[in-house]
Order: sequence, then structure tokens, then C-alpha cells
Amino acid sequence: MPETINETYVRKNPKSAALFPRFKNVFPSGGGGHDGYVADPFPITIDHGKGPRKWDVDGNEYIDYGLGSASLLLGHAHPEVVDALARAVPNGSHFGSPIEQVLEWGERVCNLIPSADKVRFVGSGAESTALAIRIARAYSGKDKIIRWESHYHGWHDYVMPGNLAPFDVPASTGIPRGVVESVVVLPPDLDALERTLASDKDIASVITEGSGASYGTVPLEPGFVEGVRKLTEQYGVVMILDEVITGFRWSPGGLQQQLGITPDLTTMAKILTGGLPGGAVAGRNEVMAVMEQTGDSSHDRFERVYHGGTFNANPYCAATGNAALKIAATGEMQETASRMAERLRVGLREIVDRYEVAACVYGQSSTFHIFFGARSIEGLDANSLKSAPPEVQSNFRKALQVRGVDLMSRTSGVLSGVHTEADIDQSIDAFDGAIRAMMEEGLISHQ
Ligand code: PMP
Repeated sequence: MPETINETYVRKNPKSAALFPRFKNVFPSGGGGHDGYVADPFPITIDHGKGPRKWDVDGNEYIDYGLGSASLLLGHAHPEVVDALARAVPNGSHFGSPIEQVLEWGERVCNLIPSADKVRFVGSGAESTALAIRIARAYSGKDKIIRWESHYHGWHDYVMPGNLAPFDVPASTGIPRGVVESVVVLPPDLDALERTLASDKDIASVITEGSGASYGTVPLEPGFVEGVRKLTEQYGVVMILDEVITGFRWSPGGLQQQLGITPDLTTMAKILTGGLPGGAVAGRNEVMAVMEQTGDSSHDRFERVYHGGTFNANPYCAATGNAALKIAATGEMQETASRMAERLRVGLREIVDRYEVAACVYGQSSTFHIFFGARSIEGLDANSLKSAPPEVQSNFRKALQVRGVDLMSRTSGVLSGVHTEADIDQSIDAFDGAIRAMMEEGLISHQ
């Protein structure tokens, strides 16, 4: 009997296996900081990364399509980012006052992102959507937000309703009823949006993951984001474009530059900081003005948006952010990453076709997704596209891992501007082996 995918995984990772009980001892389910780090029978513990590759504690090497949850457009430990951080470290980590590097960082954001008149730095992508929602409510004087089924905007209370199917039950327990009632969850359909905007006069904002849910796992109809812009403008509702993934990746100016639209507010993180913690909200002067402190004590106490955060815009993240955005501004990394992603998607599609398995490969920009269950995603909604059997998804990721390739989630990945054609071709071979192993185990079959 040949080894199963799981048996190979266990055999190749004795040190990761040995560390797992200790992880479980101190972290819920063994996950140190993120639900996504939990894996069965244990996650692989990584030791270090360089460029498009990373190595685990057992010495196994991976071509990485996870890339710090898509934050590493420049690859792991890019020399200019490392150098910027190394130069900043000895100078101190916090001064409680402005530093010039933060000014430079903010100017870079405003120069790159078309809708950014003003920007405010925050601690993460989730904080950026939390602040943007607060700004939108303050600006409009209204309470509710509209969000799309399955779009991901972080883990805070206001974005848990509608994040996971079934969409009428928040993705987490512990969300107050009042919060749930303030969030209107819609399928991504412009008619549904128009009907809601016409009938409900308490809508402050519409928030959209412009790629479609989960960096394009559930693509949007062409023209959808532009349609959201048109309708929000028509009904005087604040449009928040969540560019935490697409910002600086779809193009130097994000998705909005590519589409030629101007949202009222834009949320960013990930590439913004060169892969360190942090995020930002940017927007139109008139909307961002709700954060202004005028010195009038009544205005400042009663009529403005409050915001703090000890580590926002810290010198280390400003240093790496400036280094990363300087490179991202040229567009070369995005161009390579997208070209390599296309090469990978074409190669993966050939294998799916060759073995005639019920699966398909798709993705925009520098991302790729594999759906197990049909030869096309045409007509499939978020519910279907995210409902491939869990054992198929997790075995697929493990089958790739034991062949030296890792993904961002179980069936999707992103590329960097430092992946090479050789990396792609090696990954396609690994994918071929993974698909064959899954067929042998009866996890997937002919269409
Ligand atoms: N919005 C989107 C579109 C994201 O993909 C993410 C993270 N994957 C977030 C918000 C939250 O960002 P963070 O994990 O930095 O809180």
C-alpha cells in the first residue's frame, strides 16, 4: 500500500509534530495568533524565509504562495525592506510624537492611491475597516452598513455578520444583537443594493472587497464595483473600498486605479507596511474631516471621531512601509507577480484538463484559486464556491506541502514579484503529483 498524503505529511515533519503538544498547551487549538494557523493533524512550524521560499523546522523547503497572508509582494525578507528595518531598529521604537518617516509614508500613500486626500495609520487591516466604518457613520449621521455575503474585512464585531455561510448567522459567537442589527448582509447584486438603498434611510455605508470575497475566491460580475460606486453616489452613502489585499497589488494604486473609480474611503494593510503590522484608512478630505481636532472643546468632545493606538505609525513599520512602497510604486513587482500567476494558472488548468477531474482554476491579478467540485465556476455563488469538502481542501494543501509548495489558504494562493518561471514550473509538477495522489486516495474523481 502506498503511503497516504497524511502519512507522508507526518513522516516529513517530525519536529513540527513534536512541537505541537506544546503549542496546544498554551494556545487554543494550538493556534498562536490566527484561526487559520490551526491544521490537522498539526501545522508545520516554519523556521525562516527568503524571496519566494520558506523553510520549516524539519528543513523542508517550500515555494510559498502564502506570503505573509498576501503582505509580501516583494517576497520574504526583501533586502531593501530588511535594510530599512535594520537601520531603524537601533534608533528606538516609539517617541509619542511625529517622525519624518511617517510623513514620507503618508505622502507615498496619498501619491499612490487615487482617492487618498488624507490618511490615518492604524494597527492592522481589521482596525482599518473598524475605523472606516466609524468614520462613515460619523460623516453620514446614520447607523447601518451594507456588506456582501462572504466578503472578508477582518475579525471585529461589525464584520462578523455575513462573513460565513449561513450568512444570517454571524461568523463568531460573542457578537452583540445590536451590532448584528446594524449590519445589512446582501448577495452581491446591484438590484438588491438599489432596493435596499431606496427603502432603508439609515444606511451609512457600503463596504466591498473589490476582488470579490476572499481575494477573488468568489469573483464579482464585471462592472459590479463601478455599479456600487454609482449607486452609493446617487443615494449619498459612503463607499468603503477594502483594498487590504488589492491595494498596491492589483496595481501601484490598487484596484481603484485599475477601474478608474474613486471610493469615499479606502482601507489598506499588508503591502502598505512591507509585511509588518499596520494598516491605514484614506479618503476624501470632506469625509476624513470628521477626524479633525479644531481646538473648539465642544466640537472636539462631541462632534468628531476619536482614534488612538499606541503602535500606529511606529518608526519600524514606517521604515519598512517606505521601503516597500518605493518599490511598489514602479509597478514592476505587480507586473511580474501577475505574469507568473497567469503562467501558474495555465499550467494548473492543463493538469486539471489532462486528468479530467471535477475541478477548475481561476483568479485575477497575482492570485489563483482552485475549486474542487465542477469544471467551471460559472453561476456558482459564495456558498458553493466555499463548500468543497473540508477533507478534500485540507488534503490538497498537505499534498502540495509534502511536495514543497505551500498555499495561503487551503485552495488559494498569491504570488510575489520575485517568483521565477522555474518556481512556477516546479510548482506545476508538485500540483500534478498532488492531483494524482488525491485521485489515488479517492478524494477526487473524474468529472
Ligand atoms: N480586509 C481584507 C480584504 C483582508 O483580506 C484582510 C486580511 N486577510 C483584512 C481586511 C484584515 O486584515 P488584518 O488581518 O491585517 O486585520
